[in-house]
Amino acid sequence: MPATLNDPPARPTHFRLPIAHGHAALERLTQVAERMLDVPVSVISLVEGVTVSTQSGGAPDTWRARRETPIARSLCRHVIGGAPLFIEDARAHPLVRQDPGAWLGEVGYAGVPICTGDGVVAGSLCAADGRPRAWTEGEVDLLQWLAAFAAMVIERRMGAIATGAGFVGAIGQARGRLSLRMLEKAVETMQLGVTITDTEGRILYTNPADARMHGYSIDELRGRHARIFAPPEHARPIDRDAIEDVTSWARETVNVRKDGSLFPVLLRSDLVKDSAGRPVGLVTCCEDISPRKELERQLLRNAFYDTLTGLPNRGLFSHRLEEAIERAFRGEAHFAVLMVGLDRFKLVNDSLGRRAGDALLAGVGARLRECVRPETMVARIAGDEFAILLDETQGLGEATRVAACLQESLARPFDVDGSEVFTGASVGIALSVSGYERPEDVLRDAAIAMYRSKDAGRGLYEVFDRDMHAAAMERLRLEMDLRRALERDELCLFYQPIVTLETGRIAGFEALIRWRHPERGLILPDDFIPLAEETGLILPIGTWVLEEACRELKRWQEMASGDGGPLTMAVNLSARQFARADLVEHVERVLAETAIAQGTLKLEITESVIMQHTGAVNATLARLKALGVQLYIDDFGTGYSSLGYLHRLPLDALKIDRSFVSAEAGEGSLQLVRTIVAMAHALGVKVVTEGIETAELVSELRALRCEYGQGFFFARPLEREAVEALFAEDPRW
Ligand code: C2E
Ligand code: CA
Ligand code: CA
Repeated sequence: MPATLNDPPARPTHFRLPIAHGHAALERLTQVAERMLDVPVSVISLVEGVTVSTQSGGAPDTWRARRETPIARSLCRHVIGGAPLFIEDARAHPLVRQDPGAWLGEVGYAGVPICTGDGVVAGSLCAADGRPRAWTEGEVDLLQWLAAFAAMVIERRMGAIATGAGFVGAIGQARGRLSLRMLEKAVETMQLGVTITDTEGRILYTNPADARMHGYSIDELRGRHARIFAPPEHARPIDRDAIEDVTSWARETVNVRKDGSLFPVLLRSDLVKDSAGRPVGLVTCCEDISPRKELERQLLRNAFYDTLTGLPNRGLFSHRLEEAIERAFRGEAHFAVLMVGLDRFKLVNDSLGRRAGDALLAGVGARLRECVRPETMVARIAGDEFAILLDETQGLGEATRVAACLQESLARPFDVDGSEVFTGASVGIALSVSGYERPEDVLRDAAIAMYRSKDAGRGLYEVFDRDMHAAAMERLRLEMDLRRALERDELCLFYQPIVTLETGRIAGFEALIRWRHPERGLILPDDFIPLAEETGLILPIGTWVLEEACRELKRWQEMASGDGGPLTMAVNLSARQFARADLVEHVERVLAETAIAQGTLKLEITESVIMQHTGAVNATLARLKALGVQLYIDDFGTGYSSLGYLHRLPLDALKIDRSFVSAEAGEGSLQLVRTIVAMAHALGVKVVTEGIETAELVSELRALRCEYGQGFFFARPLEREAVEALFAEDPRW
C-alpha cells in the first residue's frame, strides 16, 4: 500500500532493540536508580516503544500505570527533546497543566535523556516519587550517570547484533567504545563522590570529586581502606550477615577529611554481585550535604530567633513558656515571666534614626542576658519589648531581684554610634500562681503589669494582679468613651494666665483641655491625652482645641486689652498633630476664620517633636513662622535637645519644665534655671517659667529677667467665666 499523508513518519530503524538482549541490564539500572534515589518507581522508556521499569515493594498499585505507559503518553516525552526535566511537585507544574493526559500521578519527577555517542536520544530514564521532591545536585548527577550507562548498554547491544552485518557492526562497535569513554568522563567530572571498594572495604577506585571532598589525591586513596573516611567512633566493619539480603542502603552520617575535620554526608551504597550472587564489591556515592545542613540550621534560627539581637523570638519563648505552664500545672515548679519595655526607645528611634535604634536594642539584649543565669530564656518578643522566663522560681524573690538588676543595668548609658544614649526599662511580672493555661495569657498579664509600671513612673516594676486586669478593661472602656466625647461635646478648655513678670499683668493664656465625663466627672489631660495619642484621636481633638481656643481669644481680645499689646493664646500641639501634612493649612485657615490679632497665637511643642525628622520639621516651623505664629518649646530640659541645636530653629521662647522649680527640685535646680535663662537670652530666645507656686520664686525670676511666668501662684487653669471675672479685676501680681 502506498504511503499516504496520514501515515506516521518512518522512524529511524538503527536503534531498534530486541528487548531480549538489553532488558536485564536496563532493568538493573532502574533498580539502582530506585534504590539510590529512594523512589518507588524508576522507568527507562525507549523511543522505539520499549519500556523497562522497576517498582519497589512499597509502591502503591497505581504506579503500575506509570510503569507500563509508553513514552509518548508520559512526562518523559518532554525529556526526549534532549533536556533533563526535574519537577519538585508535578501537581503544580505548568507542563502538567498544559497536558494533563501525560500526568500519571507522580509528585516528584526527575527525568534525563539517554543519549548515545553521536548525540541521538534513544529514550529517557526517570524516577518518580509520590511526594514532593527537591532533587539534589547529587541525585541529578547520579541519574545522568545511570543514563550514560543505559546508553552504553543500548549501544553495546546494537554492536553485538550488528557484528554479523559488516559495515553496520563496525559503526556499532565504534559507538560502544565512545560511550565507555563518555561514561568514564561522566564519573570523573560529576560533583558526587564515587568510591568502589572490594568486599574487604579496600578502595579500588575513587573519582576526583570524592578525593577532593575528603582532602586526598586520588593516588593516596587507592588501596587504602574506606574506613579512613569515617571518624573513628563511626568506623565499624560491614556486617556481612546484615548485607546478605540487602543490596543497597542510604544513610546520613559524618565523614572525616584528611586534615581531621568533619563534614555531614549522604551516603548511598550499592552492593555489586557476580552472576552467582556473591558480593564482589561495593559502589558508594557520597554527597557533601554541609550546604543543606547549614541552610537547615539557618532556617531553624530564622524561625525561632530574632536576627537583630540573636535572642529567641516570641514563638520560641511561647513554646518554652507552654512547657513551664504544664510543669506548674502538675505542681512541679513555679515560674515567673518578666516583661521588659524600654522607656525612651521611640524617642531614640525617631531622633537618632533606625540604625541607632537597632544598635540600642542589640545592646539591651546583651545587658538583659547579664542579669540572668546562662540557661534562663531571654527573648525579644516585639519591637522594644523583651521577656524573661524564670523557671523553677520560689515565689517573687528571684523575679524582683532580676527586675532590680536589669533596671539598674539598663539605666547606664549605651554607646550608640559614638553617642551616649539613655534608656530605662519598665518591668511587668506575671507569676504562675495565677494558674495560667495559655502562654498568651501570661504574656498579656505581664504586659499589662509593664504598662502599669510605665504609667506609675519610669524605672519601676509591677507584679500583675487581678486589679490590673480590671484596670486594663477600664482603659478599654475609657477609649470607647473618648471616641464619643467629641460628638457629645464633653471636652472643654480651661485657661491659665501667663503673666509678664516685669509688670505683673496678664499677657495671655495657655489653653488646657479637660474632659467632663458623664460618670467620672472632670478628667485631667494626663489621664486621657496619652490614650488619645495612641489611638489617633488626638487629631480631631487637637483640631477642635485650636479652633475653640482661637475663637475664645478673639472674643477676649475684643473685651480686654492685655499688657499693652493684645492678649495671646498658647495651644499645645502633640507630636502626631505636628506630623500631619495639612497642619500648616489648618492653622492658616483657623487664623483667617477667627481673625485673631496678628502674632497672638503661640504653639507649644515638645523637644521630642523637634528632634524627629529634622528636615520636615524645619520646613513646617518656617511655614508656621511665616504665618505669624509664635513657636514655643514646652517642657524644656526633659528631653535630649540642646540649646545650641534649638538656636538653629525659628523659636520665640522656651518654657522651662515645672520640675525644675518645684518644691522638691532643690537649690541645684534653680542654678540650672539661671543657666538656661542666661543661655536662652544669649541666643535671643525668651523664657517662660511654669509651675510657679511661691512669691520668692517670682522675685528670683524677676531678678533673672525671665520674661513670663505661669503657675498656681498667679492662677490655676480657669473656666471661661472665671477668666472674664479676672479681666474685671485687672490683677497685678
Ligand atoms: P503642660 O503643657 O506642661 O501644661 C502645664 C500643666 O501644668 C497643666 O496641667 C497645668 O495645670 C499645670 N500647672 C500649671 N501651673 C502649675 C503649678 O503652679 N503647679 C503645678 N503643680 N502644676 C501647674 P494640665 O492642665 O493637667 O495639663 C497637663 C498636660 O496635658 C499639659 O502639660 C499638656 O502637655 C497636656 N495638654 C493639656 N491640654 C492639651 C491640649 O489641648 N492638647 C495637647 N496635645 N496636650 C494638652
Ligand atoms: Ca504646655
Ligand atoms: Ca509644660
